[in-house]
Amino acid sequence: MSTKATVEKLVSLCKRRGIVFQSSEIYGGIGGFWDYGPLGVELKNNIKRAWWKAVVQERDDMVGLDAAIVMNPTVWKASGHLDTFADPMVDCKDCKRRFRADELARHVPASAHGHAAEAPILRCPECGGELTEPRMFNLMFRTYVGPVEDDASVAYLRPETAQGMFVNFGNVLQTTRKKLPFGIAQIGKAFRNEITPGNFIFRDREFEQMEIEYFVKPGTDEEWHQHWVEERHRWYLNLGLSPERLRVRRLDREELAHYAKDTYEVEYLFPMGWSELEGIANRTDFDLGRHAEFSGRVLEYFDEETGEHVVPYVIEPSSGVDRLLMAFLMDAYDEEEVRGETRAILRLHKDLAPTKVAVLPLSRNEQLVPPAREVWALLRPHWMTQYDDAQAIGRRYRRQDEVGTPYCVTIDFDTLTDQAVTIRERDSMEQVRVPIANLVAALREKLD
Ligand SMILES: [Zn+2]
Repeated sequence: MSTKATVEKLVSLCKRRGIVFQSSEIYGGIGGFWDYGPLGVELKNNIKRAWWKAVVQERDDMVGLDAAIVMNPTVWKASGHLDTFADPMVDCKDCKRRFRADELARHVPASAHGHAAEAPILRCPECGGELTEPRMFNLMFRTYVGPVEDDASVAYLRPETAQGMFVNFGNVLQTTRKKLPFGIAQIGKAFRNEITPGNFIFRDREFEQMEIEYFVKPGTDEEWHQHWVEERHRWYLNLGLSPERLRVRRLDREELAHYAKDTYEVEYLFPMGWSELEGIANRTDFDLGRHAEFSGRVLEYFDEETGEHVVPYVIEPSSGVDRLLMAFLMDAYDEEEVRGETRAILRLHKDLAPTKVAVLPLSRNEQLVPPAREVWALLRPHWMTQYDDAQAIGRRYRRQDEVGTPYCVTIDFDTLTDQAVTIRERDSMEQVRVPIANLVAALREKLD
C-alpha cells in the first residue's frame, strides 16, 4: 500500500465507482450493512474464486460444502455460542449511545490504568456522561422458524460458517470416503450483531466468511497447523499484498479462545493499525466432541491402519471476505504524477481486478464505433469487459486505472486500414499494437 491510501479516500472511491454502497442508502442506511455494486461484486467473486481454487480445486485432500444459514438451535448450544458468544455492553445514561466495555477500557490512556482498586471510572467518550454497569450481550441474531413466535421456534442466523462443516463431518466422510487428513471448505454469509461495527467494511453485522475445517489425526495437529499457516500466508503474498504490510502473529496464551490449543493470525497493517485478516486455530477435538455429546451420534474416524477409532483434531483457517476486499483495495491504491496531473490507480493483481479489459474507441466517430463494438463482442466471452466511449481518451484511461483494469484496448483510425488495435497496460502505461486476429491470444497470455 502506498501511504496515499486512507479509509476516507477508499470509501469515496468505492461509492463513486460502484464498488461498495451503504445498505438501503435512500432510507438513511443501516449500521453495519453494506451492498456491493457492479464492480464490487466482481472483485468479491474474484477473491472467493482465488481462494476456492487454492484450497479446494488444486488440492487432493479438500472438498467443498454449502450449508444452510439457519441451523437447528442445538448446534449453537453445543458450539458454546448460546452461552459464551457475548460482549460486555455499557450504555450512556445521558446520550443513550452504546459501547463495548472492553473497547472503552482499552482506549483509556496507559497512565490512567491503575490497580483494580483504583481503576478509573469510565465515562461516555461522546458526551462524557455516566455509563451503566456492563451487561453481557449475545451477538447472535435471533429469528423464528414457522408461523408461531415462541421459545420453541427460536432460531439464529449463523455467526460463523464453521459449525455447518462440523455437523456434516459424518456425511462428508461417508460420501467421499476421504482418509485423514482431509478438509472441508465453505464460503458463506455469517451474521453478528456487533455492538459497534466500524472501520468501513472491516467489521460488519452481515459479512461473508471463507473457512476451512481440516481434520487430522491427534498428534499430527501441530505439524498441520504450521502447514496451513504457511499456505495461507503465501496465498496473500501471491495475490500481491505488500510483504511489509502483512505479518503472521502467534496469539498469546491469554488471547486464545477457550477451545483453541494454539492460534496464529494473518494481520494486515491498515490505517487503523495491524488488524486480523485470518485466524488459523488448532481447535483440537473440541467441536466434534461437543457435537457427539449433544447429538448422541458417533463422530469418529476409523483408522484402518491401527484398527482404532479416533476423534480427529481440527485446524481451522478462517477469513472474512469483506475485510480481505478492503485490504486488497487499500494495498492496491496508489497515486502518481503523470504529465502534471495526479493519476489514482488500483494496482490490483490481475486475478482480482473486477474488469480485465476495457474497450475504448478513440472517439464516438461513426466509423470507429462499429469495429469497436465488434472487438468488444470478441472479448466478452473470455473476460469481464467494459465499453467506454464517453469523454476524452486520457480521462477514460484514468477511469480504468482508478478501478484497477489491467488492460485497455483502443480502436483508432489506423484500425480501419491495418485491422490492428492498441493494448495499453495499466501500471507501466506501455502500449503495443496487435492485429485484431491475435487479440484474444495476446490478452490470454497476459491474463491467464
Ligand atoms: Zn453519552
